[in-house]
Amino acid sequence: MSSDCIFCRIIEGSLPSSKVYEDELAVAFMDIMPVNPGHVLVVPKKHVRELSELDEDTGAHLFRVAMRIEKALRASGLQCEGTNLLQNNGREAWQEVMHVHLHVIPRFRGDKVKVHFGQQQARREELGLWAGQIKARLQP
Ligand code: 5GP
Ligand code: ZN
Repeated sequence: MSSDCIFCRIIEGSLPSSKVYEDELAVAFMDIMPVNPGHVLVVPKKHVRELSELDEDTGAHLFRVAMRIEKALRASGLQCEGTNLLQNNGREAWQEVMHVHLHVIPRFRGDKVKVHFGQQQARREELGLWAGQIKARLQP
């Protein structure tokens, strides 16, 4: 628990939220500034800043909860023809609330979402080089 963290305050109940799910490890509540109606945040109860600091069991649990919410969204009657699961780590990667969380975002034809990733074609040698750098650091 971090008293200056908005999500910790939501979890302990000192800030209001619209919860859709809760268990011993995680909560899920509506994003206050939704990309589309039905945008949900899945959040671990313990205060952890980023994914790299989170234990794998809790990470796997968050994804399991997100999958269940994604299914519920599709059946909810809200506009949801597709979804994006989004997870930002670090200010440079758009993380604004420094308590790890997973977005479940409903999408539909004609929604107003615009994201520009600025992708560029890579050369085969570069791909091989980058793959090698990552493989060398992968934990078994
Ligand atoms: P991030 O950019 O860190 O991945 O996303 C943080 C999300 O938290 C944003 O989508 C933002 O709208 C949401 N958010 C920020 N403050 C609050 C709040 O007080 N209550 C709720 N429900 N969501 C919040
Ligand atoms: Zn927190």
